[in-house]
Amino acid sequence: MKKEQRSKKPRGLITTSATANNRRDQKEQDIIVTPQTNHDLVDLQKENHSLSIIASNDPSMAQLLATLESTSISKCNINSTSMNSNHKPAQDQVMDQTDSISPQDDLIEILSTPDRGLAVFASRKIKAGNLVLAERPLLRLSKEEENDSDAIEREFSRLSHADQKIYLKLFDAQKSRMTRVTSIYYSNCYNLDSFRPDGKGGSAVGAIASRFNHSCVPNLQLSFNFDKNLMMFYAIRDIPRGKEVCTNYEKNVFDAAVTRQRKLQMYYGFMCQCEACLGPAKNEFWAKSDQRRRAMFEAFKRIQECEKGYTASAVETEDPDPTQSVYIVEALAALVKLESLLVKEGLNGVVLTNTYRSLSKWSERLQDYPQAARWKEKEEINSLHGLGPHAFRTIECDKKIKELVRRADETGQ
Ligand SMILES: [Zn+2]
Repeated sequence: MKKEQRSKKPRGLITTSATANNRRDQKEQDIIVTPQTNHDLVDLQKENHSLSIIASNDPSMAQLLATLESTSISKCNINSTSMNSNHKPAQDQVMDQTDSISPQDDLIEILSTPDRGLAVFASRKIKAGNLVLAERPLLRLSKEEENDSDAIEREFSRLSHADQKIYLKLFDAQKSRMTRVTSIYYSNCYNLDSFRPDGKGGSAVGAIASRFNHSCVPNLQLSFNFDKNLMMFYAIRDIPRGKEVCTNYEKNVFDAAVTRQRKLQMYYGFMCQCEACLGPAKNEFWAKSDQRRRAMFEAFKRIQECEKGYTASAVETEDPDPTQSVYIVEALAALVKLESLLVKEGLNGVVLTNTYRSLSKWSERLQDYPQAARWKEKEEINSLHGLGPHAFRTIECDKKIKELVRRADETGQ
């Protein structure tokens, strides 16, 4: 099957120094958190998921893959031992099964590509919401220590010799004025801040997670499980067999292609070749990607202005009827537009989850509790698909839906 080549492996020498804002960042601009657990929805997550490593023809790659296979994969990654696809083990059972790899039921494979080094592909059809990979980080640094090169070196020195070897083979953007270990850390780490309610999650590097290439229209999303110390990647849309699986390194999805390219080149040293970046070269639909993203940004700006205006007017007015606020109508209109643009562009990740959260919040301000509950349900499904049932945001949604339904009853809606 033809493999799509959507993004380029980071390559080349770059001279910028890494900072906290140039790491792979799943945290998006917005706003407020409101998640919970719906057990019916959680059941959707009880799918098989496992991982395989397919050795490439390149001897050095094959050696690396063999090392990976014999060490961190078997020790660190989740693999369902029940490989019959009809069997759906509970999430926790799956979590505990860390020592087997099934060749016949794996979801992804790592292949060597002619132009981009290693890349990861779906080895069979993956449904939206499936857990694609869960791996224990090789290195993880707290918020306080992630900018401290000595702390990174210290954590590296605590790794086993085999894991050190794996780590040193990860992509190095050769960031200036840094040791190799630190440079590799900043070239591969994922930001974990948004996965904790206090916003201080730090960052982590995973052996397999580092092999996911970037796409501006990603089909995977990271969620970090702090209880189990696992980087968990969920499919945020259906992924056909043979398609490359990609995450998003760049947090500002509203940027135009040229701006995204500039940032990716600067921080990671590669030119993205995803659908959204190829634009007109891809087809008519993707030729309009920039136009859609510009409209998303306009809508987002309007929502921010409404938030400011609403908050200020609520403070200034003695006894306002908040439902009469012009800001509510405008914010809801902008959010509905933003939601439809995100869906059209295929950006099903955390920005869409945040949009549903805002839609629910503004509907609640309008005291339209049934509508607020419906948006909250959409947020919950989206959060469940992209962040998983363990995520605090998913868990909080359920409580909030119950509260909104109760308020709808109380107000006779
Ligand atoms: Zn791109």
